[in-house]
Amino acid sequence: MATNGRLVHLEDYEQFIGPEATERICRKKEPLNGFHLTHVNSTYYGGGVATLLSSLTLLMNSVGIKAGWRVMQGSPDFFGVTKKMHNALQGGEINLSERKKRLYEEVVYENVVRNHLDHDMVIVHDPQPLGMVRHYHKKGPWVWRCHIDLSRPSPELWQYMSEHVEHYDAVIFSIAEYRQKLRTPQLFFMPAIDPFSIKNREFSDEETDERLAHYDIPTDLPLVVQISRFDRWKDPKGVIEAFRMARKEVDATLVLLGNVATDDPEGAEVYESLLECREERIIILSREDTALVNALQRRAAVVLQKSIREGFGLTVAEAMWKGTPVIGGNVGGIRYQIEDGVNGFLVSSVEEAANRIVQLVKDESLRRQMGAKARETVRDKFLLSRLLEQYLDLMNAFET
Ligand code: UDP
Repeated sequence: MATNGRLVHLEDYEQFIGPEATERICRKKEPLNGFHLTHVNSTYYGGGVATLLSSLTLLMNSVGIKAGWRVMQGSPDFFGVTKKMHNALQGGEINLSERKKRLYEEVVYENVVRNHLDHDMVIVHDPQPLGMVRHYHKKGPWVWRCHIDLSRPSPELWQYMSEHVEHYDAVIFSIAEYRQKLRTPQLFFMPAIDPFSIKNREFSDEETDERLAHYDIPTDLPLVVQISRFDRWKDPKGVIEAFRMARKEVDATLVLLGNVATDDPEGAEVYESLLECREERIIILSREDTALVNALQRRAAVVLQKSIREGFGLTVAEAMWKGTPVIGGNVGGIRYQIEDGVNGFLVSSVEEAANRIVQLVKDESLRRQMGAKARETVRDKFLLSRLLEQYLDLMNAFET
């Protein structure tokens, strides 16, 4: 994040990670001054990858890496196919027809023609630009960074994807559970949050009140909040059901805030399907306002991330950083952030989610205790400085 025309520097992280870690990371950047790297993904906005890249690319530049960011272009039918691929990698079904493969490969090739990638390292994010690698004479290593929950990918689709993956020099998944049978070396980097971004920086009570008032969000009752792209894997209907159950025992307001990424053609439909659930205490909002995300995560009594698949779930770490306990689906990367009963709760059903909402809304001291541990977990493991260090290690490993 850049503040007042100045990039955030590694030294700014010292207040959170201490002088030793700061100096260690500083030493690792020294040999890489001027290293030229580019990230490639498929959306500039919406979803965790764009959130991560907007901060990570700036932090890399602030330590002397010339890190760029290319966003591939695609038609709606291309993103229709790649969203089906995304769903199938998370365990859904796909009819992988020749037509779909041809459309995928043609659009990938068009992007190759437009992008002259001769960097010291190229990092390609997720399946949409995956196939680009096949068309280049590589000047440096190419790394595929897959952010998806790969615990149960469709075998047919994975077979097709892995033909592309094998052209890479390394693959990064979020957690070791997503390891696949591949000849390419596999690494595991969990995503991380930028504590200086508008979404995560400190907000005063007045700033928080102002944002909530701006959207007429009532604060007379405790807030139960989920913030997610409108996507069925995030189980928004399950959240509403759990909230309705919980409301039989406690009074609260539910806010579901969501957005639609430019590479996700299913989002609008999911959003519309939720609108009939609106009522006085069930607020469903689609707004592009990161300060609102901050205010909601900060003011909420409880944040939910009731996903049924989740590669990592940046929203979990974001809320935990604000000292808010999170009730998360017991899946994928959420399990690496929430230690059940310690810094939040993991749930596997609507009923469990409802019971935990009731428990947390009723017990302010439990919320405070869990919230403090949640913030400490993020300080220790999920700040962007840790991810930067992993990337520096990777660049150094390829340089030697
Ligand atoms: N997000 C947002 N506004 C919204 C919904 C989501 O800014 O209305 C952000 C959220 O704060 C997080 C990212 O989008 O930074 C979602 O990342 P996550 O890893 O949780 O899920 P993904 O969308 O990548 O599956």
